[in-house]
Amino acid sequence: MVIGILGGGQLGRMLALAGYELGLRFRFLDPSPKAPAGHVGDLVVGDYLDPAAVDRFAAGCEVITYEFENVPVEAVKKLAARLPVYPPVRALEVGQDRIAEKTLFASLGLEVPAFRAVGSSAEVRAAAREIGLPAVLKTRRMGYDGKGQAVIRTEVEMEAAWARIGEHPGGLILEQMVAFERELSVISVRSRSGEMRYYPLIENVHAGGILARSTAPAPRVSAALRARAESAARAVAAHLNYVGVLTLELFQVGERLLVNEMAPRVHNSGHWTIDGSVAGQFENHVRAVAGWPLGSTAMAAESVAMMNLVGHIPDRAAVLEVPGAHLHLYGKSPRPGRKVGHITIAGSTADVKAAEARLATIVQRS
Ligand code: AMP
Repeated sequence: MVIGILGGGQLGRMLALAGYELGLRFRFLDPSPKAPAGHVGDLVVGDYLDPAAVDRFAAGCEVITYEFENVPVEAVKKLAARLPVYPPVRALEVGQDRIAEKTLFASLGLEVPAFRAVGSSAEVRAAAREIGLPAVLKTRRMGYDGKGQAVIRTEVEMEAAWARIGEHPGGLILEQMVAFERELSVISVRSRSGEMRYYPLIENVHAGGILARSTAPAPRVSAALRARAESAARAVAAHLNYVGVLTLELFQVGERLLVNEMAPRVHNSGHWTIDGSVAGQFENHVRAVAGWPLGSTAMAAESVAMMNLVGHIPDRAAVLEVPGAHLHLYGKSPRPGRKVGHITIAGSTADVKAAEARLATIVQRS
């Protein structure tokens, strides 16, 4: 079976690496000839909206999925008319628009930060009066890794925020800034027959808007909190008739969980599952879209930590010397703010903490 993947980034590459073990083949469509998935599969270089490129990509594929959430919806709709596409196009459409996303969550009874759609600086002022400050102004579309966002703490900062991102096509959203205790994510997977499985809740730490570290299972999680996160994922997935891996990013405030956003795809906060789970998120996404039974989402170790490598590649030998460390590099050339790889450490909680401290020093030093 050939699976076609829209997007040829590291997520596509890791999907293919997991799928090869199951005897599958992969083809990618990406506008860049340097897309890192091209090192491990057949890469069609072309625009998502170029019919000839899409034809070359789709020929011989049995099923299509995507690893990049800003693929144009029209392109995916056209593909969906001729081949099965998972997750469904509607999930992509919702995931691309912060207003649609939060409106869906709220309609399903999930708690979200207070928000308003805004189209002018006067509307930002009016929305800020209702929501209160501090607030976060974000582009509705195409935002990722903290890009297209401005924190507004005072009236004066409102104008500066608007001047910086206000003209973004597609409009903006003003959100209440949540004083969360921590950020969590729940990664779930739903099969074609509607079966769902969940990885343990993950604690995430960001630096400069980019995920820096994830820990699984998130420490100090009550059974009730976990159940609430899983039921949120279940509600969204069932509503969308979802197939594949679905991630919800959450803010924890006491025992409350506010849903920040969804990713209709495998997620950076789940990279630890490759080495730390019985079946990782990439394998489970492939199983789901191929129409196969899901694998176990149980942990393969007591604790797992994942460190993102952003902007530079550390001394490989020093990393590989750390017992239990797994190094994953994506074949990308380093650039400031660019995710070029990650390191996973799995083991006992104490061993993981010690290895993490040692790795942090190595990464900083090199
Ligand atoms: P996002 O692109 O929405 O995932 O935002 C990137 C990061 O900015 C999040 O992981 C949070 O650390 C922070 N952030 C985003 N929205 C809010 C909010 N409404 N309140 C507090 N922090 C936020």
